[in-house]
Amino acid sequence: MTSKPIGVAVLGLGNVGSEVVRILTENAEDFEARIGAPLEIRGIAVRRVDCDRGVPAELLTDDPAELVGRDDVDIVVEVLGGIDIPRKLVLSALEKGKSVITANKALLAEYTGELADAAEKSRADLYFEAAVAGAIPVVRPLMQSLAGDRVNKVAGIVNGTTNFILSAMDETGADYAETLAEAGRLGYAEADPTADVEGYDAASKAAILASIAFHTRVTAGDVYREGISKITSDDLETAKSLDCTIKLLAICERIVTPKGKERISARVYPALVPLNHPLASVNGAFNAVVVEAEAAGRLMFYGQGAGGAPTASAVLGDLVMAARNKFYGGRGPLESKYAKLKVAPMGDILTRYYVSMQVADKPGVLATVAAEFSKRDVSISTVRQQGSGDGARLVVVTHLAADSALSDTVASLEQLDVVVHVASVLRLEGTTV
Ligand code: NAP
Repeated sequence: MTSKPIGVAVLGLGNVGSEVVRILTENAEDFEARIGAPLEIRGIAVRRVDCDRGVPAELLTDDPAELVGRDDVDIVVEVLGGIDIPRKLVLSALEKGKSVITANKALLAEYTGELADAAEKSRADLYFEAAVAGAIPVVRPLMQSLAGDRVNKVAGIVNGTTNFILSAMDETGADYAETLAEAGRLGYAEADPTADVEGYDAASKAAILASIAFHTRVTAGDVYREGISKITSDDLETAKSLDCTIKLLAICERIVTPKGKERISARVYPALVPLNHPLASVNGAFNAVVVEAEAAGRLMFYGQGAGGAPTASAVLGDLVMAARNKFYGGRGPLESKYAKLKVAPMGDILTRYYVSMQVADKPGVLATVAAEFSKRDVSISTVRQQGSGDGARLVVVTHLAADSALSDTVASLEQLDVVVHVASVLRLEGTTV
């Protein structure tokens, strides 16, 4: 005897939604065997219903709210994009006790608290594996596999567009604008690339990762953010000369302040990464996340961080979990926020800087520059002089120091007569160089 079908509403039939529907339809028997009951798509919400979408026309609707409210819908898959409309739809589904799967990091980075409260009240599932690093399983490992461990750090490359651009600049020596245009032509950058290149997308993912890793509610506004649009081909050249490359990193870390208080940090910026660091060899549009946990040690997750089919894989994994819970009873874990750790301001975080400056070619320059670092207790790891005459450049790499002391030092360097201009400032991840 066949079990009663579980009704699924799919909101969105774009890059991700069309792959979700395709795989669900093509592998319907496998899904039924894995869940114990068949999944039935009750409707698919789109904006434009009047064109051929390659799915039965009777499934299409431009009224997602009506679809979510239908009595025969048990699970809602939200792959629309945007914030305000999906927020209302997801809340309404959860309030009605329907489980929700979403790939929407922008929504989660602002409203996980509100959505999780609604899911808690109605005892529904809220799953979002696809919202961070596409196909790569990282949300479930952090929430479930590592639930018995203590996570100290999560650092990753979580934006494919910026990784594609930085890898291509490293490989070809081309400048930022040219490489961004090429990324657009190849479909790796959107017409408006701001969310990717200025680090907003990575910041949303950092907020989600920090929340689940540290059992604390963190929103996108708590994440310190810098993008890659100021990175030059010169920066990549200098990185090479230091045996490094440059990556846009999302870093979530547990820290202890000088007064012994436990805090967390969530930050996104382009950083110099030594070539022997596991993230240095993650190239092109690929993503990777390194997790450091007390008992497990270092774990690395690597794979495709975006794209219709890879993202659909993560959505469908969540869908199977939610459907099994509907079939057998019970539910998965919700957000855990018991630790309520404070987020430390960027200035309090210990980082290392690489500072490249054009300097006057006269005696005493090095001593004057070094004095600015030592005034603020910033110790220098290496200094290199490149070129001579008007083109003389000093490249300084520091040891760990408070980010505020490092940025104050850079501001004071800019005022020195012997410094023509500070050409580039980057943070450095890892311990070598
Ligand atoms: P997309 O290609 O732009 O597709 C969006 C779909 O939603 C379209 O079918 C669109 O309808 C429909 N839609 C949008 N607003 C609607 C509304 N108000 N009412 C009804 N339908 C509406 O987007 P996507 O790339 O699939 O991304 C979907 C979500 O997944 C986003 O939250 C994104 O951040 C997330 N995500 C995407 C990827 C990826 O690689 N693409 C990776 C990870 C996460 P029309 O087709 O009629 O325009």
